[in-house]
Amino acid sequence: MTAVMTDEMQQMKTMIRNFVEKEVEPCAQQIEEEDAIPQHLVEQAKALGLFGISIPEQYGGIGLNTVEKANVLEQLGRTHNGFVSLISAHTGIGSTGLVKLASEYLKNKYLPDMAAGNKIAAFALSEPGAGSDATNLATRAEKKGDHWVMNGTKHFITNGPIADVFTVFALTDKEKGAKGGITAFLLEKDFPGLIIGKKDKKMGLRGSYTSQLIFEDCIIPDENVIGQVGMGYMSALKILGEGRVGLAARAVGSCDKLIELSAQYAKERIQFGKPIADNQAIQWMLADMATETEAARTLTMMAAEKIDEGKKVIKEASMAKLFASDVFNRVADKAVQIHGGMGYVSDYPVERFYRDARITKIYEGTNEIQRLIIARNVLQEA
Ligand SMILES: Cc1cc2nc3c(=O)[nH]c(=O)nc-3n(C[C@H](O)[C@H](O)[C@H](O)COP(=O)(O)OP(=O)(O)OC[C@H]3O[C@@H](n4cnc5c(N)ncnc54)[C@H](O)[C@@H]3O)c2cc1C
Repeated sequence: MTAVMTDEMQQMKTMIRNFVEKEVEPCAQQIEEEDAIPQHLVEQAKALGLFGISIPEQYGGIGLNTVEKANVLEQLGRTHNGFVSLISAHTGIGSTGLVKLASEYLKNKYLPDMAAGNKIAAFALSEPGAGSDATNLATRAEKKGDHWVMNGTKHFITNGPIADVFTVFALTDKEKGAKGGITAFLLEKDFPGLIIGKKDKKMGLRGSYTSQLIFEDCIIPDENVIGQVGMGYMSALKILGEGRVGLAARAVGSCDKLIELSAQYAKERIQFGKPIADNQAIQWMLADMATETEAARTLTMMAAEKIDEGKKVIKEASMAKLFASDVFNRVADKAVQIHGGMGYVSDYPVERFYRDARITKIYEGTNEIQRLIIARNVLQEA
């Protein structure tokens, strides 16, 4: 790895670490109980510029590159994953299409409010019949004069119930399908014919909302096409590729926190007249947790660097997502084990991290799909 941490970036990391530890983590239990992010945390996140980390300065953001953004997400991963999900879905998959692929008109119209956190963004690809196979979209958009008419249903859309703007993918040419027949659109929540479904009840990620989006003859102005008509599937792959690196960085941050909590607990918990940390069985768990987390960090930062160098990164992004999410789940499992019964009750944060880890193996492409992508690339390269 060659990326050098600037003083400015180091300061930002410290600032976010303080925010996470002094402000967010003390509210974690409240978020769990109320299934809601306290508004004062959202306002603090706005003031810190967190909603604009991926948006260029000319549109009001702080325009971090991918390595810098991964460092920020790593720090945020140390706390409540539902809170982090609000920000990472907005700055990642919710914003990337506009930032990297949209017209100047769309960028000027939407990015400044998104950077300030005054408009929340979401990304809508998945459908009831199109999950892992995102080429199988049933949502259709038809051009009628100077606008498009969209019909269909998306589901599991993070930020769906609270978002103001949505990057939505629809079939625009059935014959061509994913090869030139899918288009990305920018929708506002008030566009006629867009209905937001009810909030899903989930295993974890409390405070982060997902829902269906239903399009009933939804009218979209032609200028709200993101990128070229027909190139939406390629756009989705690009957006998801970058998103996967962000997800991996968050997972690494969560692992760091779990290791700290577990080591601390192991030193304090006395059984058989000595700290449980004195037992080799506990030490080996901590050793594996720390080793795998460092490997995940290295893989993640390597993928982030490649994106910043403008290199093809699809394989590395999938590797980072696959490995970091698997490590997060293994680390969370060991953290619960080290905490014994205390790891199973919600008074201790490891119980929450354990539940929140599970989704990282499923969304932004399941880990089986990441393996397919990696294998396809390995076979092509051979
Ligand atoms: C909390 C949450 C937030 C989400 N946020 C968003 C969002 O913001 N935007 C969005 O568009 N989507 C979002 N999703 C959807 C998510 O990306 C999908 O759930 C995911 O891609 C898997 O699709 P699926 O649920 O339809 O599973 P399926 O595709 O039905 O897969 C079921 C199982 O079969 C396996 N499988 C499928 N095909 C293959 C294959 N060819 N080879 C081997 N195994 C296979 C899968 O790996 C999985 O284990 C979210 C989901 C959740 C739960």
